[in-house]
Amino acid sequence: MGLCQSLGFCLRRSRSFDIPIASSPDSSPAPSQQHPKTPSSSHLGTILHKPYVDVTTFYDLHKELGRGQFGITYLCTEKATGRKYACKSISTGKLTTEKDREDVRREVSILQHLTGQPNIVEFKGAYEDTQNVHVVMELCSGGELFDRIIAKGSYSERQAASIFRQIVNVVHACHFMGVMHRDLKPENFLLVSKDENSPIKATDFGLSVFIEEGRTYRDLVGSAYYVAPEVLNRRYGKEIDVWSAGVILYILLSGVPPFYGETEKEIFKAVLEGNLDLKSQPWPSISEGAKDLLRKMLARDPKKRITSAEALDHPWLKAGGDASDKPIDSAVLSRLKQFRVMNKLKKLALKVIAESLSSEEEIKGLKQMFKNIDTDGSGTITLDELRDGLARLGSKLTEPEIKQLMEAADVDNSGTIDYIEFITATMHRHRLEREENIVQAFKFFDKDNSGFITRDELRQAMMQYGMGDEATIDEVIEDVDTDKDGRINYEEFVAMMKRGTQDGDANWKRQMNN
Ligand code: ADP
Repeated sequence: MGLCQSLGFCLRRSRSFDIPIASSPDSSPAPSQQHPKTPSSSHLGTILHKPYVDVTTFYDLHKELGRGQFGITYLCTEKATGRKYACKSISTGKLTTEKDREDVRREVSILQHLTGQPNIVEFKGAYEDTQNVHVVMELCSGGELFDRIIAKGSYSERQAASIFRQIVNVVHACHFMGVMHRDLKPENFLLVSKDENSPIKATDFGLSVFIEEGRTYRDLVGSAYYVAPEVLNRRYGKEIDVWSAGVILYILLSGVPPFYGETEKEIFKAVLEGNLDLKSQPWPSISEGAKDLLRKMLARDPKKRITSAEALDHPWLKAGGDASDKPIDSAVLSRLKQFRVMNKLKKLALKVIAESLSSEEEIKGLKQMFKNIDTDGSGTITLDELRDGLARLGSKLTEPEIKQLMEAADVDNSGTIDYIEFITATMHRHRLEREENIVQAFKFFDKDNSGFITRDELRQAMMQYGMGDEATIDEVIEDVDTDKDGRINYEEFVAMMKRGTQDGDANWKRQMNN
């Protein structure tokens, strides 16, 4: 028998702790990286670095849906469409330190990076006004998974497997896309609707980080019941998410957490002792398959722990789960599609920007993703690797479509995608909209600082990147030089950089139909 009869009785709502250790060399970025240059213009927000926008121009905000540490989430309606969304409003006044601001910036960035996966809440937009940052996302009106578990006590194996598959999908999507979640627990999953079979979605990435290859993480973060032993030992990597998911599975099947204590200290002690009880009630009546998966996910040695990809392939999870997840259009895929339809000058400008952003948080996630796709570790992605990588992300593109993406990202026509090309093609479009980056890219082309990019300057820059044939230059000037004076001024350059980032998908479909 477990330590207590029902989950509601023993499983108090778990509070996340987030106590980075100041003395740890790995716990925070170097001071020089901690203060990204803020744009000089005073009308740009301090968090998103975008012009202030009044969210109520686009949305009507209604009742409160819930509250977190920094923010309040409201029900809202998009004025243009009448569609309902959730709007998480974070008061910037409460973000007193640069670390707080960086945390919010990272949370928004990670949500934007992960959106498009079937079990991750859909990101709609982020806006900043003088008082708040507003993150508008898909509305999940079915409540928290936590409350569903409490109400039900425990689940049948079949139900547990179908819920759990979605949770492991989230872990897999995060890891594949270079993100470590660090706070997986039932409270952080919401049901899309009240329907019994409603899909579940991860909504909270407040403690998530972009994974840096080779770095050992030491921050003490997470929630007591779900925390992996190596977090308490302050040396960990992404395997901690598999452990936390394993704890959720244990709760789904038995109704009680595997490592229990009356206080946080006692829970930590139980986690570190690690006696996994799969013998007392109700375990004798639970299938060997489920127990096998649990043992593998709750393996104490992170190196021996099953990975999220292996877990998705485990017979118990495979058999129970509905394997035919709908094909998805991940953030990466839609960015690749958008990139395809850009003109060459824009691609080159992006490359210049990408090269200068290599230390930024989000680039770390893309770097990890590049490594996940570059399976032979050669430093370049081949067509075969791109096809496999996109398939692992759930895409069902046809061969000609994959070839087109490959050609689009391969700016220098080498036949493979190198690291900078990959970053260029997949980095966030909002990076571009930052004035400072556009100014910097313009300066790169306008070598003599005349305020114009001349045909000669364009040729010079493009040659440097192996793409300066006269036909391409003609094409670029024709496309960008709207006042037809034979050169590109800053306004024309900005217009080109901001053009067509929203309708990449429509362009893509149009091109595929031609
Ligand atoms: P925290 O980060 O402290 O967990 P959040 O601000 O993420 O808090 O969420 C607070 C509450 O707002 C959640 O518990 C949930 O009830 C509600 N909420 C958050 N996101 C959504 C959403 N997309 N749809 C519906 N409700 C939501």
